[in-house]
Amino acid sequence: MPPPPDALATRLAAARNGTRTAELDALLVTNPVNLRYLTGVAASAGMALVTADGVVVVADQRYLRQFEEAAGDLVQVVVAAVPVGQSYEHTIAAVVGSRQVRTLGIEADHLTVARLAGLRREAALAGCELCETSGFIERFRAIKDPWELSRLREAGGRLAEVAACILPEVSEGRTEREVSWKVELALHGAGFERPAFETIVASGPNGARPHHRATDRRIAAGELVVVDFGGVLDGYAVDMTRTVAVGRVPAGQRVWLGAVAEAQQAAIDAAAPGVLPSVIDGAARAALARHGLAEAFVHGTGHGLGLDVHERPMIGPRGDHDGPIAPGMVFTVEPGVYVAGQGGVRIEDDVVVTTSGVERLTGAPSDAEAHEL
Ligand code: ZN
Ligand code: ZN
Repeated sequence: MPPPPDALATRLAAARNGTRTAELDALLVTNPVNLRYLTGVAASAGMALVTADGVVVVADQRYLRQFEEAAGDLVQVVVAAVPVGQSYEHTIAAVVGSRQVRTLGIEADHLTVARLAGLRREAALAGCELCETSGFIERFRAIKDPWELSRLREAGGRLAEVAACILPEVSEGRTEREVSWKVELALHGAGFERPAFETIVASGPNGARPHHRATDRRIAAGELVVVDFGGVLDGYAVDMTRTVAVGRVPAGQRVWLGAVAEAQQAAIDAAAPGVLPSVIDGAARAALARHGLAEAFVHGTGHGLGLDVHERPMIGPRGDHDGPIAPGMVFTVEPGVYVAGQGGVRIEDDVVVTTSGVERLTGAPSDAEAHEL
């Protein structure tokens, strides 16, 4: 299901206004995810030149038709073809030259050194100066529109159902890899187009590694198992983690489960419009510190979700450079505890911040507790 034309028109208008505010004649969008956000087309190649008056999408023959079809529904969007045998840089320079673009913003986070050299050479010939930008379109993407929220709500509900059906499968004797296959089969069955990332199943001591890859290790009684999985629906990623106690786990490790659940709730309670990400992160950290586990929490509290599985806002101690949390932001809340040689716990849910507070997208906390214990 592609985004509706009115949603795309709003995004394009915001990008054009942003270009004007930044005092750029144009912005060159080269990140494929940003291009998808603006046009609705998922392509591995293509660029968009955003000016105050309109957008020129530059594409080669592999994606030309998709972009032309998408542009048909949108005002002020035209598509220019890269001739066979010609470079993107050369075609962009021709468009830039014909539109008297003197200052061209580039996405500094998404250009290779080789492409930058090519663009510099061609832009100089067209009398145009390149200006580095960072997070230009990503900052718009951080605030979800109503259509995006409807997709993320639907995806979150389906992911909670996947959790309910696969967590009982986490049992003694199964290998981590068997569990990950079952998760991916369940994602497929729930209608997700693909997993959002390689499913993490980390049993026993492997749980101490936050991004462990599933192995042939067999799950044993008395172990904690961290299962982190996500799905993509209509391009939008959701992400969830549960930690399952298989049989009777040592008392010390049971304490981790309670502490991490408490930290997650503290972070969710702290989230609201106007609050800085570091404050949400700090709430989770303080809860773990009360249990003597501050040192065991080795990553940020969460990350934004959308067309990318990790995007803005980043909920961490250093996540404040984009400003406070705003209504329409969707992010994960996923504190964890990791103890080398012993294991780990992580609990992750997805939330949306609204004008009136915070809404969970991946199920109620009572469900979470039932699956953990
Ligand atoms: Zn995750
Ligand atoms: Zn995550």
